[in-house]
Amino acid sequence: MVARSEAEQLVRTVPTEPYYAGGWDSSRGADTFDVIDPVTERRLATVVAAGAADVDGAVSFARSALDDGAWGRTDGTARGYMLNRLADLIEERTEVFATLESLDIGKPGFESRAIDLPQTVHAFRYFAGWADKVEGRSIPTSAYMGRPTHSYTVREPVGVVAAITPWNSPTMIGAWKIAPALAAGCAVVLKPPEDAPLTSLLLASLIEEAGFPAGAFSVLPGRGAVTGQLLIDHPGVDKISFTGSPETGYKVALAAAKGFRRTTLELGGKSPQIVYADADLDEAARGVGIGIFANQGEVCAAGSRILVARAVYDEFVELLVDQARNVKLGDPFDEGTTMGALINERHVDRVSRYIASGLDDGARLLVGGHRPERKGYFIEPTLFAEASNSMTIARQEIFGPVGTIIAFDSDEEAVALANDSDYALAATLWTCDVSRAHVVARRMKAGAVAINGWSPLDPRLPWGGFKLSGQGRELGWSGIEANTEEKAVTAVLSYPLPR
Ligand code: NAD
Repeated sequence: MVARSEAEQLVRTVPTEPYYAGGWDSSRGADTFDVIDPVTERRLATVVAAGAADVDGAVSFARSALDDGAWGRTDGTARGYMLNRLADLIEERTEVFATLESLDIGKPGFESRAIDLPQTVHAFRYFAGWADKVEGRSIPTSAYMGRPTHSYTVREPVGVVAAITPWNSPTMIGAWKIAPALAAGCAVVLKPPEDAPLTSLLLASLIEEAGFPAGAFSVLPGRGAVTGQLLIDHPGVDKISFTGSPETGYKVALAAAKGFRRTTLELGGKSPQIVYADADLDEAARGVGIGIFANQGEVCAAGSRILVARAVYDEFVELLVDQARNVKLGDPFDEGTTMGALINERHVDRVSRYIASGLDDGARLLVGGHRPERKGYFIEPTLFAEASNSMTIARQEIFGPVGTIIAFDSDEEAVALANDSDYALAATLWTCDVSRAHVVARRMKAGAVAINGWSPLDPRLPWGGFKLSGQGRELGWSGIEANTEEKAVTAVLSYPLPR
C-alpha cells in the first residue's frame, strides 16, 4: 500500500481531458469540473468536461472508424489480441488503478486489488476469447418457388455504443461494458461518472498502446445532465449501455425510444439475503456482513434486506452486530481500514435521511447510525432490527452501509418477503439444505442468485436484473448478444437438388 502523499502525486500523471478520435482534446474546454477526494474533502483534479462539439466529434469519429476506418476492418482475431494486450497493460498497473480508485471513491485499496482490478482484467481476457468466436448458424429452410434455399445467420456489431458508468465501481463496471462491445466489433464512447472519472481516463491512455485504432474507444468526462444527456440524445449512437440509478435509467430509456435504439440498463437493487435456521451461522454472518458493508454498501447488489429465520434470529443478529463492530472505518491509506467514505456530501445526507426514516418508522437501531465527527463523508456501518418489509428502509435503495433485518417464520414467508420488492437484481440464500437452496433459488425474482456466498462475480455469468433493476444482461455470451445484431441471410439456389 502506498502512502497518501505518494498516491496524491499519482493523480498528476492522469490525463484530464476528453479522449476521442485517437487523441486528447482540451481545446474546447470552456467547462471544467472538480473531482473531490471523499476522505479529505480536497480537490483531487480539475477535469475538462466534454461539450456538444466533443460529443458530436467523438460519436461521428467512432461512426466513421466503424463504417470506413481501420476499426471496422479489424477482424475478431485482431480484436482478441488487442483486448488481451489491454488486459495485460491494466494488470501491470493494478497498483495505480487501485490507488486512484481509493482516492476517487474513498474505498479501501484491498477491495480494488482483490475484486475490481482482477475482475476488470478477467473481463477483458474473457471477451478477448469471444472476439473470434462470434458465429452464426446454418438453418434449413423451405424451398422458394420450387428452388432450394440456403439460409444462415451472422452476428454484426450493433454500431456505436454509448457506455455510461456509475461512481461506485467505475473501472470494473466500465470493463463490463467496454470489453463485450469491443469484442463484438462495436465502437465505444464512454461517459464516466463525474464523481470518479480518473481510472476511465487512465484506461484511455492505454488504448493506443494496446493497438486499438483511433475511434474504437473514446472517453468523454462530464456531468450526467450535460455530457451524458448530449451523448444519449445523439442520433449517431446505436446502443446505450447504462449502469446507474433507475431515475437516470428512465431518461436513458426515453432517449433510446427515439429511433428504438438498443439499451442495456443495469439499475439499482434492494437485494434480500435469506438466512435459514440450518445455515452455518458464523459463515453466514461473515458473508451477510460483506454483502451489506463491502464498498461502503455502495453496491447495486448489496444485500440490504436481511431476512432471518426466527428460530436463530437472536443468535444471528448478535453475530452480525459483531461484524459491524469489527469494521474499521477510516482513510483507505491508513493501515487496517476496512471501510472508507461515501462518495460525496449529498450522498451522506441521503443515507442519513434513510437512517432517520428507519428510526421514525420504529425499527430498532442495533449499531451505527451516525456520521463520525471527522473530516470526510463517512457513515458508520449501521444495522436495524425489528423492521418490516413495508418500511422505507426495506423498500428503497439506500446505497450505503445500512442493513435492515427482518424475521420470518416459514419458508413460504421468506420467499414472499424476498420477492416483495420493486427491484429484482440479486438474492443470496444461506442454508445447508441443498434441495431447499435450489428450489428457493428458482423461486427468487432476481437476475442472479448466490447460495452460501454473497454475489460471486465472474464475467462468464450473465449480469443484470428486471423490474426497477433494469433490463438486458451484460457479461457471458449474453454480453456478445447484447452488442450484436443477428441477421438472417437466405440464398435462393438455381442449382436443382437431386430428386
Ligand atoms: P446516476 O444515475 O446518478 O449516474 C450514473 C451515470 O449516469 C453517471 O455517469 C452520470 O453522470 C450519468 N447521468 C446522470 N444523468 C444523466 C443523464 N440525464 N443522461 C445521461 N447520463 C446521465 O447513478 P449513480 O449515483 O452514479 O450510481 C448509483 C446508482 O447506480 C445506484 O442506484 C446503483 O444501484 C446503481 N448501480 C447499478 C449497478 C448494476 O449493475 N445494476 C451497478 C452499480 C451501480
